[in-house]
Amino acid sequence: MSLITLDSFAAGKWVAPAGTISELKSAVTGEAIARIGSSGLDFSAMSDHARNVGGSALRALTFHDRARILKALATYLNERREPLYELSYDTGTTKSDAMIDIDGGIATLFVYASKGRRELPDDVLLTEGALEQLSRSGSFVGQHVATSLRGVAIHINAFNFPVWGMLEKLAPAFLAGVPAIIKPASSTAWVAQACFRMIVESGLLPQGSVQFIAGPTGDLLERLTAQDIVSFTGSATTAAMLRANPRIAENSVRFIAEQDSLNATILGPDAAPDTPEFDIFLREVHREITAKAGQKCTAIRRIIVPDAHKQAVIDALIARLEKTTIGDPRNEATRMGALASQAQRRDVLEKAEIIGRQARRVFGDPQNFALNNADATLGAFVPPMLFDCAEPDGADDVHSVEAFGPVSTVMGYRDLDHALALANRGEGSLVASIFTHDPKVARQAVLEAGAWHGRLYFANRDTGKEATGHGSPLPHMIHGGPGRAGGGEEMGGIRGVLHYMQRTAIQGSPDIIAGVTGRYVAGAKTSTEARHPFRLSFSELEIGHTLKTASRQITLEDIAHFANFTGDTFYAHMDEEAARANPFFPGRVAHGYLLIAFAAGLFVDPAPGPVLANSGLDGLRFMKPVSPGDSICVELTAMAKTPRNEDYGEVRWQVRIDNQDGEQVAGYELLTMNAL
Ligand code: NDP
Repeated sequence: MSLITLDSFAAGKWVAPAGTISELKSAVTGEAIARIGSSGLDFSAMSDHARNVGGSALRALTFHDRARILKALATYLNERREPLYELSYDTGTTKSDAMIDIDGGIATLFVYASKGRRELPDDVLLTEGALEQLSRSGSFVGQHVATSLRGVAIHINAFNFPVWGMLEKLAPAFLAGVPAIIKPASSTAWVAQACFRMIVESGLLPQGSVQFIAGPTGDLLERLTAQDIVSFTGSATTAAMLRANPRIAENSVRFIAEQDSLNATILGPDAAPDTPEFDIFLREVHREITAKAGQKCTAIRRIIVPDAHKQAVIDALIARLEKTTIGDPRNEATRMGALASQAQRRDVLEKAEIIGRQARRVFGDPQNFALNNADATLGAFVPPMLFDCAEPDGADDVHSVEAFGPVSTVMGYRDLDHALALANRGEGSLVASIFTHDPKVARQAVLEAGAWHGRLYFANRDTGKEATGHGSPLPHMIHGGPGRAGGGEEMGGIRGVLHYMQRTAIQGSPDIIAGVTGRYVAGAKTSTEARHPFRLSFSELEIGHTLKTASRQITLEDIAHFANFTGDTFYAHMDEEAARANPFFPGRVAHGYLLIAFAAGLFVDPAPGPVLANSGLDGLRFMKPVSPGDSICVELTAMAKTPRNEDYGEVRWQVRIDNQDGEQVAGYELLTMNAL
C-alpha cells in the first residue's frame, strides 16, 4: 500500500510535508500508512490569510448564508462517507465506531445549519436577550448584541474523533463568521485530512475560511492576538502547557479546553437487579467500555453501584465482556478494535497498572486475550479491563487516573449521598449518568453533583430506545466540564456560536438601538403608509411600519356572549359580587382572550394577500382590567423580519392594546408568515 502524503492546506494552497517528517502507522497491522510534517509552512501567512481573506469573506455573509453553506457541506459529506469509513479501519475502529465519528460529525453540521436558520437572524449582528429599560420614560434603553471576532479560531483536535472533532468545532465557528485553522491530532490525521480534502473540493466554503495543518503548529500560537480563540481537545498536560503560552495570557486569548475526565455512572438506589433500569445500565456500561475501545472523552471510567448489588453488576458485566470479540476492525465479527497507536497502548497499560494498585482486576488480562483475525504483536490491541475497588473512599488513583482505553472500575456505595460524593471525586467531569426511575433521586443528583459535571444523563425504562446514550455529546447540549475536564464548553446550540463572538452592551435612545439592531424598539420612530401593512409583501414591509386602529367599545353583552360561546364563565367575567371581592378587579371584566380576539378584529385586513398564516404569539401580558363600557384600540408595529425560505418569511409584530385613556391594557408579539 502506498503511503498517504498528508499535505497541509495553507493560504488557499496544498503544501506537501517538508522538513521533519514522521511516519504514521496502522493501529491494526503496524504498517506505515502516511507521512506527516509541517515544517515548510508559513504560519504568519496562514494567520494573515485567515484574518484578512477568510474573516472578511465570512463577515460579508449573514448567519443564514453561513447556515445554508453548512447544510450544503453536510449534504456533500454525507454522500461521501464510505471512503472515510474505509480509512478509519487503520485507526483501529470498527465500522460502528467510525459511524460515531463520521456520521456524528455530519449530523452536527446539519444541526448547526438548521439552528442557524431557525434561531439566528438573517443578519451579521446578533441581538441577545431582551431590551433593558434604563430610564423612567423609556428615552434611554440598553441591549446586548454580539458581533464576530476579527481573528482566527485555532482548532487543536484529539486523535479519537478525527472527523467529529473537526466538524463540531468548525460548525459554530463558521456560523459565527470566524475562519478556522484546523490542526488534527497526528496519529489519525489521514482520516481528518481525507474529510478536509472533501471540504475544500466541495468549493462551498469561502476562500480563507478554513486551513489545515498536518503536523506540529510551529510558531502559530506565538502569533495569537486578542481577537483569536483557541479551542483544544486532548490531554490535561498539553492543555496546561498551551494555556501557559504568554501570548494567551498577555492578549487574554479565549482558550476553550476539553481534556481528561473520569466520567462516572451511578446505578440508582431504586435500580435493583429485577428492574428494567438494571438491564439498561448493564447494556450502557458495556457499550461505553468497548465502543471506540474506550477512547471516548465521555467513556465511563467509574461504575458506582449500591454495595448490595456490586457483585451482581460485576458478574453481569463480565458475562457481557467475555462475549466481546476483539480484533481486526474490518472483520464483521469484531465488536472492539484496537487503540489508536502503540503509544496509546503503552499509556493505557501504564495507567491500568496504576489503577491496579488500588483496585483488583476482575476481567481482562493484557498479556493473555483472544484476538479475531489480528496479530497482538503488530496491532495496538488491549482487552477490556474491569477493576473492582473495595475502598473507593480511601483510593485516589481510581478517581484521578484516566486510562484512555477500555478500562473501568466498579465501586460500591452506601447511599445516594455517598454515590454522588464518589462521582464528584473526579474533580470535574464531562458527564455522569444516573440510572433511576425516581425523579427525587434525579433532583438530588443535580443539586449535589451538577456543579462538578458538564452534563448529567438520566436513563430509565421511559427513555427507552430513543435516548442517545451516556457517551454521546449532542450539538444541542453543551459538551465540556469544570476542573479536570478543562473548564470549557463547546456546542450547546447557539451558545457554542457565541464563543466566537464578542458580546457588547449598547446603550442609547430607542431610535439608535432600533437602527443598530434592525428590530423595532418601543419608543423608536414609526412610519405609516396609506396601504394596510397586511397588504405589503415581506420585502415591502419596513421595520417600524405601524397601523393604529379605530377603537371599539366593550359591552356587558360582549362579555356574556363570549363567556357562553367559549364556555369560559369564570366568575370574574360573570359574577359582579364575586369579581368585586377579588383584589384585582373593580367588578366584572372582559376576558383577556376576548381582548386579543377583538384586537385581531380591529387590525386584520381580511382579503387574501401576502399574510399567509398566524404562527403564534409571544410574551402575552394583561396589564389592566377592561370593564364593560371601556374602549380599546390597537397599535400594530412591524418589529422584526426573518426570511424562512424562497417563498415566505416570518414577521414579528408588536401589538399594543390601549384603553380609552391611552393606558396599555395588554401587549404581545404576534408572528405571521408573509409571502416574499
Ligand atoms: P495530546 O494532548 O498530546 O494531543 C492533543 C492535540 O494537541 C493533538 O492535536 C496534538 O497534536 C496537539 N498538541 C500536542 N502538543 C502540542 C503543542 N505543543 N502545540 C500545539 N498542539 C499540540 O493528547 P493525545 O491526543 O496524544 O492524547 C493523549 C491523552 O489525552 C489520552 O491518552 C487521553 O488521556 C487524553 N485525551 C482526552 C480527550 C478528551 O476529550 N477528554 C481526548 C483525547 C485524548 P499531535 O497529535 O500532532 O501531537
